[in-house]
Amino acid sequence: MIPSPFEYVKVRSVDEALAALTEHGEDAKLLAGGHSLLPIMKLRLAIPTVLIDISGISDLSYVRVDGDGPDAMVAIGAGTRHFELERDDVARTEVPLLPHVAGRVGDPQVRHRGTIGGTTAHSDPASDLPTALLALGGTVVLQGPGGRREVPVTEFWTGFFETAMSPDEMVVELRVPRTGSIGWGYEKFTRRENDWPIVAAAAVDGRVALANMAGSVVRATATEEALARGASIAEAAELADQGTSPGADMHADQEYRRHLARLLTRRALETAAGV
Ligand SMILES: Cc1cc2nc3c(=O)[nH]c(=O)nc-3n(C[C@H](O)[C@H](O)[C@H](O)COP(=O)(O)OP(=O)(O)OC[C@H]3O[C@@H](n4cnc5c(N)ncnc54)[C@H](O)[C@@H]3O)c2cc1C
Repeated sequence: MIPSPFEYVKVRSVDEALAALTEHGEDAKLLAGGHSLLPIMKLRLAIPTVLIDISGISDLSYVRVDGDGPDAMVAIGAGTRHFELERDDVARTEVPLLPHVAGRVGDPQVRHRGTIGGTTAHSDPASDLPTALLALGGTVVLQGPGGRREVPVTEFWTGFFETAMSPDEMVVELRVPRTGSIGWGYEKFTRRENDWPIVAAAAVDGRVALANMAGSVVRATATEEALARGASIAEAAELADQGTSPGADMHADQEYRRHLARLLTRRALETAAGV
């Protein structure tokens, strides 16, 4: 299918992008890597009249450590592409779950275009990096006409393709705690290596997040609470699907997804624990 006609605006700064969003209102959409937006435009599931291309904002592409000591955070610019994150030395040292997961997104072509801000804003419940971000904790930094605000990742993804972001705001940064040598695990079940996850589980520092088990990425809170009480990994993982509401499609029915959530959670926790 061919998308319906749209106007194209290329911007070079966050201020220009926000001004264009304000000018064109809810008819406008930001265009980052285009690897989620363009497919849904071709299907006419999104019909923006204006595309604001933010891919040329070079200031939005970085990974750095902000602050010192235990409170220091890893800051990742929203325009950072998946392949940049995958190869970034700071990310590999400070928060190794993220570059590993970035390397599991789609295929090389997707990883060379897609951005962490785009996948965060898109809020697909099957997306890899938001699952990892949710397990890590931290915040999504939004910028709008009124300035910047930080939304905890636990409050950002509110439903199927829905977030806590307003139409006149954009994602400018992701902030996650440094995990350094703390163990982590990521398990992604797919039919083919470069597919989206049918279910995925990320585990780090006693937290577990799941992809494709609800309308948005979700934390496996029953598992986390059991671990905090001192339950074994096997016992805690058996609770991973509690409180979830997986859908059914041609890849997996609900019961199979629940089984995968329990199995992948156990494997991710075992990897994180080094057993
Ligand atoms: C063949 C294929 C396979 C894929 N496989 C996977 C996979 O295995 N796992 C996975 O997780 N993903 C997968 N993806 C999706 C890929 O990761 C996308 O790149 C990503 O979901 C969206 O990032 P983007 O930069 O391309 O965003 P875009 O497509 O440009 O934008 C997506 C949405 O986010 C908005 N947006 C973009 N940037 C911002 C911002 N900074 N602030 C606010 N809103 C913004 C846009 O307006 C749009 O609504 C796949 C995509 C394709 C085409």
